[in-house]
Order: sequence, then structure tokens, then C-alpha cells
Amino acid sequence: MKELERDLVVLGGGPGGYSAAFRAADLGRAVTLIEKEDILGGVCLNVGCIPSKALLHLTEVMADAEELSSAGVVFQKADVDLKKVRSHKESIVGTLTGGLDGLCKARKVERITGEGMFESDSVLVVKTKDEELKISFKDLIIAVGSRPVQIPGIPYEDERIWDSTKALALAEIPKRMLIIGGGIIGLEMAAIYHGLGSEITIVEMTDSIIPPADKDLKQPLLKKIKKQYSAIHTSTKVTQVKATKKQLTVSLEGEKAPSEVEADVVLVAVGRKVNSDAIGIDKTSIEMDKRGWIVTDEKQRTNVAHVFAIGDVTGDPMLAHRAAHQGKVAAEVATDLPSAFTPMGIPSVAYTQPEIAWIGLTEREAKERNIPYKKASFPWQASGRALSAMATNGVSKALFDPETGRLLGAGITGKNAGELIGEAILALEMGAVAEDIALTIHPHPTLSETFALAAELAEGTATDTLNK
Ligand code: NAD
Repeated sequence: MKELERDLVVLGGGPGGYSAAFRAADLGRAVTLIEKEDILGGVCLNVGCIPSKALLHLTEVMADAEELSSAGVVFQKADVDLKKVRSHKESIVGTLTGGLDGLCKARKVERITGEGMFESDSVLVVKTKDEELKISFKDLIIAVGSRPVQIPGIPYEDERIWDSTKALALAEIPKRMLIIGGGIIGLEMAAIYHGLGSEITIVEMTDSIIPPADKDLKQPLLKKIKKQYSAIHTSTKVTQVKATKKQLTVSLEGEKAPSEVEADVVLVAVGRKVNSDAIGIDKTSIEMDKRGWIVTDEKQRTNVAHVFAIGDVTGDPMLAHRAAHQGKVAAEVATDLPSAFTPMGIPSVAYTQPEIAWIGLTEREAKERNIPYKKASFPWQASGRALSAMATNGVSKALFDPETGRLLGAGITGKNAGELIGEAILALEMGAVAEDIALTIHPHPTLSETFALAAELAEGTATDTLNK
């Protein structure tokens, strides 16, 4: 076995890992990035955020074109060439992974393609295609991510049982698709496959889709998809999926659900499980909790001082933007800079149609934790831009501290909500009060005004609608 000594090793090349590697290299560290796939970008870039957004864009434009008929502009029904759609999606992913390769080279980050397993707190063994490497390191950042959770009773070997990776491979458009899990992945995939022509059934264990989001934010989406989809069964469990040559028969257990539903494809999207069980942590003294999440402090340091962990492997929320920020913190702390991961909030976005985005305190949390708040909510039906853009299916709301007026949290549902929430995030991080937001002149007419109008409502200064 070849023995190597390295300065800073990053294990895992997803958005967290490559951000950590690039930041450390920019700070003058000699960086080795180990990734088992021969492309960088991890789940997000290759089989997650990016390909799903490419497909969601297509289905959104198709739906928008169809809606124009009510305004007197009629297009023919879209004709989908699946092979071309696939290569379009793949070329977007290819552009980004190619870009990462270039950035790696330009920063002189050493790349090793292989699977790393700890041998001790300071040694990693990496199996590459041709050899085994024993790498002693000064610092190491674990960024090995997560994988889909599997629930019992499902014949996973059947090719009609999909996870999000298979769904994004776009092998076919099934006639009937049943989705287990009404979370963000389930609903984004539902939007894609509904747009491409599948009949969608959603089965969600809790009493509502996207459990962490506030009810009023979900309402516009629910209203729309209840009409579009075959069924949405909440408070329902899947007990078994039986595969026959003709179809999949899904057994359900829920007060209002039928006992069986037939489908051509079943997508399982019930959450993600961390990959800490695949890297030999048992050979180290690195601490994990009972879910396998690696425990870190706010500097992303594990209990082993020269080992850091970032991103999904450290637990919820499992989001690329969290991982990337944590990666930079780990690289900086490992290089003796005074850095820490202490955000005021981490934004969540469901890229559904309409999109749902939120940041900071939600009303659900405020009620659970007895936190007082003042709520202001601006319906998009009263926005000139939303009306002109045929996007009235939306709402912008903000929660303020009743004593200080400080923004505590915000939520936006509607077209481009994922973009619009950026302003609320900045306001939250900067400690803005309702008056700051209300007095910030927003361009008219825009959808961005709706957030300022929510703040005006909280201030009692709105003129576009009645202050109640
Ligand atoms: P999730 O936790 O968001 O949703 C899973 C859903 O499945 C939940 O609503 C849960 O109640 C339900 N569920 C769990 N077990 C079930 C069962 N046996 N039967 C029926 N329903 C069941 O998980 P996800 O949608 O799989 O996403 C995984 C992770 O990836 C999340 O952390 C998510 O935030 C992240 N992600 C984010 C984005 C984005 O930012 N747009 C997109 C995709 C995924």
C-alpha cells in the first residue's frame, strides 16, 4: 500500500466538500480532495438540485404557455422529445461539473478518485481503481453527504421502484406514478412528472404535505395540485408494495385512503440518511449521535480537534447552501481564522409551482415554542405585477417581534419565491425592523414589492390595501 502524507484532506466532493477544498486552497493550504465518483458536484449537482431545476423549468414554461390561452394566446399542446430533454439536462450538469474540474486545476487542488475509509483519527485508506493509498493527514474535513432512506415492504430490486436519482434519469414517463412522501423531493418530482404527463398520487404519513412549512404558505400549492393530481392521501402509510408483471399494487393504511392503489412506478421520497456509516468512523474516536449524524461545534469541529464535518453528514437541514457555508467555515477554522457557522436562519425552498420559500421563525415553531410575534401577510391578488404576470397564486408574509419590530422570519409562496426570499434573508441577517423594510423603496411594479407591503401592513402604513 502506497503511503502518503497530506496537509488538508477533504473527503467528499459535493457542494460542501468542493467549497471547503477551494476555500482552503485560497487560504494557502495544500488540499487533497477525495471523491469516489469521477465527477465532482455530489448529489446536488449530478442527481439532485440542478437536474431537477432544469426539468422544473421546462414544465413551468409549458404550464405558463398553456395558461396564456385565457389571455387570448393559444399554443399547440407541447410535444416532448424525451431523449432531447435528457440531453438538455445532462448538458447543464456537464457544464457545471466541467467548471468544477477547471476550478480544481486552477487552484492546484489534488484530486483523488476513490473511496476513503478511516483507519484511525489521523489516517485514511483510499481505494482507487488501481491501488490502495494510506494517507496521513494534518486536517480532514468530512463531507460525505447522505442517501435516500428506504422503508420496509418495498421490492427495491424492481426497476419500477424509483428513488430521486432514478426519477431524474428520466428513463420513461409512467402513466401512473405514486409518490411515497409529500416532502420537498416528492412534490418537486410530482411537478416534473405531472408536467410531462403522468397521473400523480401522493401518499404522506403526516397530516399535511411539506410538514415544516406554515399552512398559509402551502395553501396556494395545495389548492392547485388537488385539482391536478389523482389523489393526495395525507395521514396515510404505505404498508407494502406488491409487484406483478402488469403493475405495482400499493397497500395503504389511513382513515380516508383506499386500501390499495395501482401504479406503474412508485417513487420513494421519505427523507435522507447520512453516509457516516460507510467511512469507518468506528475506527476513530469521532462522536456521532444515535441517528449517525456527526456531532460538531459551531466551528464545524468534531470532538477530534483536527477533524471537521460539514453538510448533510452533520444532520438537518440537509441543504446544499448550508453545506457550502459550513465548508468555508471548516476550511477557515482549520487555517486558524476566527470563523463560525452561526446563521440567523437557513432558507428552505420547495421549487414547486408555485414555489414555497421560508426563512427563520415559522408560525408553527412560534406557536410550539410560545414565541410572541406580529404577523403581516400580503396576498398577491392585490399586486399589479402578480396580476400582469398571471401569478396571483401567492402570498408574502413576515413575522416581527412585537416589542422591537425586528424581523423574526418570513415566508413567500408564488412565482420565483425562491429568488424573492433572498431579500428576507438579508433583512434577517442585518437585524432589520419592519420600518426598515417598509421604507426601502422597491421598484414598482414588481413581485419584490409584496414583501415590503407585508412590512407596511405590520407598520400600519400600507395604502395598496387596507391596514387591518
Ligand atoms: P423530507 O424529509 O423533506 O420529506 C419526506 C416526507 O416523507 C415527509 O413529509 C415525511 O413525513 C414523509 N414520510 C416519511 N416516511 C413516510 C412513509 N413511510 N410514508 C409516507 N410518507 C412518509 O425528505 P425528502 O423530500 O426526501 O428530501 C430529503 C432532503 O433533501 C431534505 O432534507 C430536503 O430538504 C432536501 N432537499 C431539498 C430540496 C430543495 O432545497 N429544494 C430539494 C430536494 C431535497
